[in-house]
Amino acid sequence: MNWTATSDATSKEIRCPRCRQSIVDCLPSADHHPVQCPHCRAKLLLFSASARNFAVDVDNAPDEIREFVTWAQQSLDEVQFVSLLLTFEELLGITP
Ligand SMILES: [Zn+2]
Repeated sequence: MNWTATSDATSKEIRCPRCRQSIVDCLPSADHHPVQCPHCRAKLLLFSASARNFAVDVDNAPDEIREFVTWAQQSLDEVQFVSLLLTFEELLGITP
């Protein structure tokens, strides 16, 4: 089962990784608190990085990702979360 979906960072639309239905006007998002898919109620983490939008189906993600999301929610505010994503991009050499 797919647990991620992407779209271009200029888009305000992304498909839910679980049900593949379109979710509009949800992006860009810097919120690290999951939202519910309006179609299937999957818990989704939406964020933008590396000129892409990402949707992560938290409940179907690998354990490490689910634990990371939980840690980020409890330990970081939104600004810190975005800063962490930017640092990952820089470390990986994928800064656009
Ligand atoms: Zn869905």
